[in-house]
Amino acid sequence: MSDADRPGTTDSENVREGESVDFIRAIIKDDLAAGRNEGRVHTRFPPEPNGYLHIGHAKSIVLNSGIAREFGGKFNLRFDDTNPEKEDVEYVDSIKEDMRWLGADWEDREFYASDYFDQLYAWAQHLIRAGKAYVCSLNEQEIRSYRGTVTEPGRPSPDRDRPADESLDLLERMKSGEFPEGKYTLRAKIDMAHPNMKMRDPLLYRIRHIAHHRTGDRWHIYPMYDFAHGQSDAIEGITHSICTLEFEVNRPLYDWFIANLPVPHQPRQIEFARLNLTYTVMSKRKLLQLVTEGHVSGWDDPRMPTISGLRRLGYTSSSIRTFCDRIGVAKRDSTVDLDLLKWAIREEMNRTAPRVMAVLRPLKVVITNYPEDQVEMIECVNNPEDPGAGTREVPFCRELWIERDDFREEAPRKFFRLKPGQEVRLKHAYFITCDEVVKDPDTGEVTELRCTYDPETRGGDAPDGRKVRGTLHWVSARHAFAAEVRLYDNLFRAPFPEEGGSFLDNLNPDSLEVIPRAMLEPSLAEAGPGFRCQFMRLGYFCTDAKDSRPGAPVFNRTVTLKDTWAKLEAKGKAG
Ligand code: ATP
Ligand code: MG
Repeated sequence: MSDADRPGTTDSENVREGESVDFIRAIIKDDLAAGRNEGRVHTRFPPEPNGYLHIGHAKSIVLNSGIAREFGGKFNLRFDDTNPEKEDVEYVDSIKEDMRWLGADWEDREFYASDYFDQLYAWAQHLIRAGKAYVCSLNEQEIRSYRGTVTEPGRPSPDRDRPADESLDLLERMKSGEFPEGKYTLRAKIDMAHPNMKMRDPLLYRIRHIAHHRTGDRWHIYPMYDFAHGQSDAIEGITHSICTLEFEVNRPLYDWFIANLPVPHQPRQIEFARLNLTYTVMSKRKLLQLVTEGHVSGWDDPRMPTISGLRRLGYTSSSIRTFCDRIGVAKRDSTVDLDLLKWAIREEMNRTAPRVMAVLRPLKVVITNYPEDQVEMIECVNNPEDPGAGTREVPFCRELWIERDDFREEAPRKFFRLKPGQEVRLKHAYFITCDEVVKDPDTGEVTELRCTYDPETRGGDAPDGRKVRGTLHWVSARHAFAAEVRLYDNLFRAPFPEEGGSFLDNLNPDSLEVIPRAMLEPSLAEAGPGFRCQFMRLGYFCTDAKDSRPGAPVFNRTVTLKDTWAKLEAKGKAG
């Protein structure tokens, strides 16, 4: 596919080719030129370990780790693990695995917000002593009603002027587990009439009698994400805290904490537009729901937009990085066409994947004038796009499998594949003509085609120059082996699955078709994990890393050869 054909984004502002730097890199260059941060550049990726990483996270990882690399800076991995309820080591492990696979290098800087719980607690005490925080006894509902609305100011909590000593004492007792959940919270004392609701005495700590996957039972209070995030960046010396746009409204609060605490360093927060993709949901809550309700087989189901799902489907990390580079970064929210992601892997596999032959829905062909016991080895080019990929030999004999779709008994004039009396080419092999159609006498189903071949056409060309319009792929029935092939399609049938009702209503019922016994050319029997190839005329495929066994590979269709979905949709025939 040429660049001009490449599917774009729905907001052309997001793709700015030819422009050397995006607005974030421009800011960093300015900071360096102005001598800020002693010339350091230090970024991080701060996941909450409450789910697997998805393609949106990849955008952030590629951006943050790429900036560190380009500017000779450092890149941290920090788990923002402040909410033990939803977090788990399974997620920690998967996040690290996926980040490594994507090529992000945090060296030895793997950190956890929970490592800073003591420091954060000391800073909470600092705010109390400074008259800038208090222990509040309002319950959740009361806090909400006291907070006011965007048009009305809030009302002060009755505990707002609680003496510091009393708050310090209560906080200590909250910490040691003396009170039930919900009895008290610690709140910052900022401004109950502030136009930004986040500034109306936000919660800093709440009581939770839940064990934490790292700190165990030590804590009975946990900091709110907002109280932990910016300070963690400050502790780590992060120079540029790059985050998604929804945190723009939190920035005044983060700045307030930084300004009112004796932090060692002042990070600068920069927001960019999160990645949204058509035919995809990206919220971890919704992805978790797909998993727990069994709509998919797990977080790494090849239809999931997770890194582990895309990897299992056959995506390479380089294709995902290419995609991230192409979409760029912008300040305005938009939705990227899923076809751009597919383009990235298709374009890569077109260059790198060997072409092989597999028949998904086999129909027997018997070549009646071919000697019964003869086997010929046919030389096949592995990849016409890559002469260095060489050739391989594929056995040819009297009985073959071809694709059932490639034959029609009653065919229109323009059907150039096999039909009675019509000559076609078997790829790399011979011309054949169909003489006779054998059917099951009971069902009428076609069970076999009896054909003749022209021995003069070896290699796929006729010496007399006669042409055929159809070229079919095939496998030798005696040598082929049966394997499971999984044809994946978009998980959702609507481009914006979250619009109108539940996203679950937009699940695509045909997102997976399993072919239990496709017939594959013998060279594929030894395909190991992560083996990628093109099944000629059918698409790009990859062995399934989970379900394949030695000598018994399972193949996933990574992407079709052409974007049939978008074409159907343009004609109004999809969904
Ligand atoms: P949720 O789905 O619950 O809102 P999240 O996806 O924001 O969670 P985090 O673990 O907080 O989960 O994300 C880690 C980092 O990845 C954050 O810095 C966040 O800004 C970034 N990120 C998350 N989603 C996207 C996205 N779609 N595009 C770009 N960056 C993202
Ligand atoms: Mg988040």
